[in-house]
Amino acid sequence: MEKDLRTFIAKYDSVVEPLQKESNLAYWTASISGKAEDWKKSEDLNIKLTGIYSNKEDFAILKKIKESDAVKDTLLNRELEVLYNSYLGNQVDTAKLNAVIKMQTTIEQKFSNFRADVGGKKITDNDVEDILKKSTNSTELQQAWEGHKAIGPVVAGDIINLVKKRNEIAKELGFNNYHEMSLKLSEQDPAEISSLFDELDNLTRDSFKSLKTEIDDYLAKRDNVKKEDLMPWHYQNRYFQEAPSMYNVDLDKYYKGQNIEKLATDYYSSIGFDVAGMMAKSDLYEKPGKNQHAYCIDIDNLGDVRVLCNIKPNASWMGTMLHEFGHANYDKYIDEKLPFCLRNPAHTFTTEAIAMFFGRMSSNAQFLVDMKLTDTADAHKVAGESFKVLRLEQLVFSRFVQVMYRFEKGMYENPDQDLNKLWWDLVEKYQMIKRPAGRNQPDWATKIHIASYPCYYHNYQLGELLASQLNHYIAANVLKSDDFRQSYFGKPEVGAYLRKNIFMPGERWKWNEMIEKATGEKLTPKYYSEQFVK
Ligand SMILES: [Zn+2]
Repeated sequence: MEKDLRTFIAKYDSVVEPLQKESNLAYWTASISGKAEDWKKSEDLNIKLTGIYSNKEDFAILKKIKESDAVKDTLLNRELEVLYNSYLGNQVDTAKLNAVIKMQTTIEQKFSNFRADVGGKKITDNDVEDILKKSTNSTELQQAWEGHKAIGPVVAGDIINLVKKRNEIAKELGFNNYHEMSLKLSEQDPAEISSLFDELDNLTRDSFKSLKTEIDDYLAKRDNVKKEDLMPWHYQNRYFQEAPSMYNVDLDKYYKGQNIEKLATDYYSSIGFDVAGMMAKSDLYEKPGKNQHAYCIDIDNLGDVRVLCNIKPNASWMGTMLHEFGHANYDKYIDEKLPFCLRNPAHTFTTEAIAMFFGRMSSNAQFLVDMKLTDTADAHKVAGESFKVLRLEQLVFSRFVQVMYRFEKGMYENPDQDLNKLWWDLVEKYQMIKRPAGRNQPDWATKIHIASYPCYYHNYQLGELLASQLNHYIAANVLKSDDFRQSYFGKPEVGAYLRKNIFMPGERWKWNEMIEKATGEKLTPKYYSEQFVK
């Protein structure tokens, strides 16, 4: 069996390694040029790649080997496990798979074409967010919020059908529902994730409640309404997933006129990460037709790692550059001697954690001093306020993820229940905002992730938990310090620790095994809570 598996893997590598590289390069090119023919090439290669994983004969070979339980070599067994999961998710009747893609596209088109009608004017999501952030007029706020929520009834029926179709696929593959399948195929045990979220709920509830009182005091005064009359549209965001801007801190002034690219290069080099080569291959500034966001891509799983950004000299782009090059370093330092199929981060949320760990530095007062963006006296003043902003952002977001995780789980377990009620029950419980009296609308359906990026949102929160766990471990055990707000500038031992314990192992071990080996504990919300809750 081991011999059969080695033969299978050799063949797999010879096909997938070059094809994946070609596909990554095509995506990279398309996202910079924006040309239709480049996007077409990228899409074609993507379909070709997916086609490999839906091959029935290949899956049958893997299944036979797996069920024989005859592979004793641990590295080989790990390869088998990873490959098996990659194939299993695609072993569905192609007609069903295509139906799902079609349904998803239809929903996405409805989202793209939708504009909120506010007072007879059609406005974009950005306009809605702008009104919610800036206006202090309750009528206008309500109109913008309700205008945006009008997409709900347009897509809700489609989404429920899509959810049922996804469940059909999951059942065909032997799972109870699609939520369970998504988690298990990415090596997450739903019971384990739920218990992490319960623990996080217990740790954050009281602090969030008192922070919420502070938020309500601020918003009631700002919008001139009674506290008990505050409604969802007063929270400065369509979902209350971002922090209201109630503290006075301007981080942008430190980055004005600065060379963000050089700051990121110097910072990483001071902790022992050489990013110059990756910087040179990256595409960091605005161009016509280019993707307006940011991402990091590992082209060949052998060190050709690139970042796409659209740098402006402000705090947000400093954070984004540190974030994306966090991903880049992870990819770059994965052990090249590992077999091809294990040369990936342990999980998408573990690479997200590294990106968040470094991205948080852009608002870190010590970072501002170390990068010579301000002096110690000013940093001292800014430290308290900027930390309060970070804490508010973290707690507000974490309560929203509670809603998302529990809603998706409940929806896939029973898509025929009263989903409108489920959503608002969760919003009231976890975000502690009131549902508008008598409201019975599919407000859950307005969050595009539910249709387009299913059962993934909780990973953002897991990333934050791990970022805090690593921050604690590194300060306490690598630097033997009790200062948990360090920038780590000029500390190559931090880079060395991350490289050896987090990056090098790639997908060699399951994510929780890797975390336990690296920090002595499995993933826990304890340090997130120590950092942001207490
Ligand atoms: Zn990221």
